[in-house]
Amino acid sequence: MAKKPVETAETVLEISGLTKSFGTNVVLDGVSLKVAKGQTVCVLGPSGSGKSTLLRCVNWLEKPDQGAVYLAGRRIGMREGGHVAMSSSELARERARIGMVFQHFNLWPHLTVIQNLIEAPIHVQKRNRDEVTAEAETLLERVGLSAKKNDFPSRLSGGQKQRVGIARALAMKPELLLFDEPTSALDPELVGEVVTVMKTLAESGSTMLVVTHEMGFARETADEVILMDGGRIVESGEPAAFFKKPKTERAKQFLQRYV
Ligand code: ADP
Ligand code: MG
Repeated sequence: MAKKPVETAETVLEISGLTKSFGTNVVLDGVSLKVAKGQTVCVLGPSGSGKSTLLRCVNWLEKPDQGAVYLAGRRIGMREGGHVAMSSSELARERARIGMVFQHFNLWPHLTVIQNLIEAPIHVQKRNRDEVTAEAETLLERVGLSAKKNDFPSRLSGGQKQRVGIARALAMKPELLLFDEPTSALDPELVGEVVTVMKTLAESGSTMLVVTHEMGFARETADEVILMDGGRIVESGEPAAFFKKPKTERAKQFLQRYV
């Protein structure tokens, strides 16, 4: 069983010894990492290396076979002691502490932009509608979409949809933001506007775990870069060193293909 980590105020996310298999396919093979408060950690790696499964295990959308996930020192998915699974309402409360931004946006098509933002804060977090709406308007301003607040998602470009996706995640005031290839579904000319919003977030002190193929973002913004392959972390380090002088053959190969 995973050991409980030393609790420091600085560690927002700790993943410890996660393993996950689908049938005989070992998708996560002992993954451990930490994200400190205010840090941006970028996860790189080829398709099928387990990146999405790792993110999904963080908020228990996927239940790991072994290992543990701690958010600000509190275990996710399992009750204290680690032997009893959380109830679905306990889990929902824990999940509300983590914002997730998806590759395909996952906006509610039948709700307007502002309704997409306020839905979960009102219904999951039981917060005051007027207060949540005022905050949502500020968030839309922050991502440059105030003018679109009453539009339905179908009227928006991909880049605008993803900026709504980010604002929607922020509306929950999460302690941690997870991004799963947030720009991979976008036309190349729309990537920049989303990356710009993500950089602003990183610089303003958000704590972010970002799966991405945007090497420019990783190089300029990440505090730490992690390369996954075959369900394992094969290299990790500061971006300057990682991109300039990768230590492993695997990282060298990967960078030759992607950069
Ligand atoms: P990545 O995001 O790095 O591309 P994934 O985590 O999506 O990788 O997938 C890793 C491996 O796990 C792949 O082989 C994929 O087919 C498999 N996988 C992911 N989710 C499931 C699932 N729900 N059932 C079965 N296999 C899965
Ligand atoms: Mg993926």
